[in-house]
Amino acid sequence: NAPILTVENLGVRFSVKRGGTFGKRAFLYAVDDVSFSVNKGETLAIVGESGSGKTTAALAVARLVEAYTGHVNLDGHDILNMDGEDLRQARTKVQFIFQDPYSSLNPRQRAEDIVREPLDSLTDTTLSEQREIVDKLFSAVGLRPEQRRLFPHQFSGGQRQRIGIARALATQPELIICDEPVSALDVAVQAQILNLLRDLQTEFGLTYLFISHDLGVVQHMSDAIAVMYMGKIVEHADRLSLFNNPLHPYTAALLSAVPSVDSKRRAETKRILIPGDPPDPVNLPKGCRFANRCPVAQDICRQSEPELIDRGEGHRVACHLIDNTKTPLL
Ligand code: SF4
Repeated sequence: NAPILTVENLGVRFSVKRGGTFGKRAFLYAVDDVSFSVNKGETLAIVGESGSGKTTAALAVARLVEAYTGHVNLDGHDILNMDGEDLRQARTKVQFIFQDPYSSLNPRQRAEDIVREPLDSLTDTTLSEQREIVDKLFSAVGLRPEQRRLFPHQFSGGQRQRIGIARALATQPELIICDEPVSALDVAVQAQILNLLRDLQTEFGLTYLFISHDLGVVQHMSDAIAVMYMGKIVEHADRLSLFNNPLHPYTAALLSAVPSVDSKRRAETKRILIPGDPPDPVNLPKGCRFANRCPVAQDICRQSEPELIDRGEGHRVACHLIDNTKTPLL
C-alpha cells in the first residue's frame, strides 16, 4: 500500500513572550523534526498528552498553521509550497472532523447546509448536484432524510458528530483528519461513532490521520500509531507491535493505563505512573525531553537527545537504552 501522505522533518514554532510586558520573545517548538507517512486506505493515530504537538502537526498538514520547515506531500502535491488556487484545490483533499460537535457546527445553519457548505466553497458543483451528494451522505452516516432541515441543537451529540463526518466526506477528500472525534461524547456513543468511521473507511477507502490523547480509543481504530511527547515522535510502529511490545518508557506508561478486555492481561499489567511534569517547552533540557520523568533515565539521557531510530520492521523509537533486540525497559 503506497503512502498518500508523507511528512518529513516538519517543524512548527510559535513566538511567545516571557516575563511580563517587557519580557523577551522566545520560540516554542510545538512540532520538532516530525516525520511520518500514512498509507492510502489506512489509519495512522497520533497519540499524546495535551501540549505534545499532535494537533499542531495535523493543522500544519492542512496548512491551517504554518510550518517553518519540512515537507508535506499529499498525493503528489507539495502542500507547504502552494498558494492561491493550487492551495484551494489541495484543501479540498484534506478535511477535518473536530473534537466538539457542539461548537464546530454553525447553530444557525440547517444540517443540510452544513454538509453542503464545503461543496459550495471548495468545488464547482451546481446546487442540484450538491443536494444529491448531501442526500447520499446523510444516508451513509446514518441520518434520516427528514432530519436535513433541522438545526444542530435539535440533534443529540452523536448525531451532531455524524453531521460533522458527513461534512468532512463531502468533497471526497484524500485525507480526513479526525481530531479527538469522540472525546466529547458519552462512552456508549463513542463506540457507535468509531464503528461508523471504520465502516465508512471500508466502504469508501478513506485515509485517516486520527489524533487522540487516549491509546484505548485508538486500539481498534489504527493501523499504525505514532506517540508524541513535547513536540517529538518518541515511538512509531504498527498497532500490534506498539500494543504488544511498547519500547519507549512513555508509551509503556500510557499503555499501562489502558484497561484491557483480556482479564489475564489485565491482572498482569501493572500501572506505571509517570512522576513530575513535562519540562518548560520554551526552555527545553539538553538531552531526552522525558528524562526528568523517566524511571530508568541514565546520565547519557541528560546529555544528548535520542534520535528516532528504526529498530526493525519499521518500529521506530527515540530512546538511548533501546537497541535492535527491542527489549522493553519497563
Ligand atoms: Fe528514558 Fe533515557 Fe530513554 Fe529518555 S532516552 S526515555 S530518559 S531511558
